[in-house]
Amino acid sequence: GNKNMNAKLVLLGDVGAGKSSLVLRFVKGQFVEFQESTIGAAFFSQTVAVNDATVKFEIWDTAGQERYHSLAPMYYRGAAAAIIVYDITNQASFDRAKKWVLELQAQGNPNMVMALAGNKADLLDARKVAAEEAQTYAQENGLFFMETSAKTASNVNDVFYEIAKRLPRL
Ligand code: GDP
Ligand code: MG
Repeated sequence: GNKNMNAKLVLLGDVGAGKSSLVLRFVKGQFVEFQESTIGAAFFSQTVAVNDATVKFEIWDTAGQERYHSLAPMYYRGAAAAIIVYDITNQASFDRAKKWVLELQAQGNPNMVMALAGNKADLLDARKVAAEEAQTYAQENGLFFMETSAKTASNVNDVFYEIAKRLPRL
C-alpha cells in the first residue's frame, strides 16, 4: 500500500563545498554563482516519490565553519540520512569530509543512510580528488558515492532519490 514517511536529513561538509547550492538545486531547481554563506543552519523540505512511497525530507543545511562545529550534533542527532559534501577541486574539503564521516560513525544514528557527494563535478579541469579514490573510500566506509554538480544539476535529484530508496521502511 501507500506509505508516506518523513526523514530528517543533514548536509555536512566544508564551507564552500556546495551544500547550500545542492539544496537550492534540489528544492527550487535553481543555482546562483554567488551563494551566500550559511549562518548556523537553514531548514528546507522536499518530497520524493519512490515506488509506492513518498519520503518527505526535512533538510538541515549546516554552515560548515569550524566555529559552528559544536552545533552540528543538534542537526545530525536523530537524522535518518546525511549527505557529506566535498568539492572535487579541493583536497582539503575531501579530508574534512572524512572527518565528518568519522564523527557520524562515532556519534550518529547507527542506521543512518550516508551519502558522499563529490560536488562541482562540472569543474573537471580543476579536479584534485580522483573519483576512484572517493569511490573506494565510500565503499570501505559503507557510504554510497556520487559526483554531483549543483550548477548543471547532474546527479542532484539522484542523490536524494538513492537515499530515499535506502531508508528503512516503516
Ligand atoms: P556551502 O558553504 O557548502 O553551502 O557552499 P555554497 O553552496 O555556498 O557554494 C559555495 C560556492 O560554490 C558558491 O559560489 C557556489 O555558486 C559554488 N558552487 C556550488 N556548487 C557548485 C557546482 O556544482 N559547480 C560550480 N562550478 N560551483 C558551485
Ligand atoms: Mg551553505
